[in-house]
Amino acid sequence: MGTDASPSNEQHTPVRPGVVLGPDGKPCKPCTAFRHWKPLKEKKTDGKSGSTTGTAAMMAALAGGATTTQETPNQEQEYRRPADCPPDVEELGRATWTFLHTTAAYYPEKPTPIQRANMLALLKSIPMLYACKPCGNDFGDDMSKNPAEKWVGSRERLSWWLCERHNEVNRKLGKKEWGCGIKEMDARWKDGPEDGRCE
Ligand SMILES: Cc1cc2nc3c(=O)[nH]c(=O)nc-3n(C[C@H](O)[C@H](O)[C@H](O)COP(=O)(O)OP(=O)(O)OC[C@H]3O[C@@H](n4cnc5c(N)ncnc54)[C@H](O)[C@@H]3O)c2cc1C
Repeated sequence: MGTDASPSNEQHTPVRPGVVLGPDGKPCKPCTAFRHWKPLKEKKTDGKSGSTTGTAAMMAALAGGATTTQETPNQEQEYRRPADCPPDVEELGRATWTFLHTTAAYYPEKPTPIQRANMLALLKSIPMLYACKPCGNDFGDDMSKNPAEKWVGSRERLSWWLCERHNEVNRKLGKKEWGCGIKEMDARWKDGPEDGRCE
């Protein structure tokens, strides 16, 4: 699936690298990284030669290789989305993972049957309702191979399972995998690191 959500059915066809169309034929914003749906503006850097860095950067981005963190400071600024834009695939993903991991971190050690049922319902709703449909479909496939039912019995088990599901997406996107022990999960999502910098 490359670095962005890409089609897993005929309704989502990429028009240029990284851009995914929704069922309405328009770019699907929550399936696409902003840098792909909003090409960089041309920006002259050398008045005499007329050369531009904007065009070069745009070509690199459209070739699918660029990421925000790999850009120069100027290009990074150009890629920065205004805060009131709809979320792209990355912002939606970060917000969703934050919600899910934090919810798991504060899930009870001994959940009641109702809490378990609600957690299961929440997790199972993602494949059906997640705004990035290709992402949701792949997550659903992963959940069918690794059913959540066995893992909602405690906060530690749920945190581990969710971390593994996140790692599955990380692997797909070529990102770093995380250690899924409760110590690592709590340091990131509940207590903060041992050096106290989050206190
Ligand atoms: C269900 C779901 C499916 C997705 N599918 C796709 C897809 O198919 N294609 C696509 O392009 N994007 C997908 N995304 C978005 C993608 O996972 C990232 O959210 C997005 O690329 C932004 O990545 P990021 O590097 O900012 O950090 P994120 O992956 O969003 O992670 C946020 C933070 O969580 C922490 N973290 C990282 N890994 C773990 C882990 N395993 N366990 C616990 N904490 C961790 C790190 O501190 C990280 O900064 C999906 C998101 C979700 C919620």
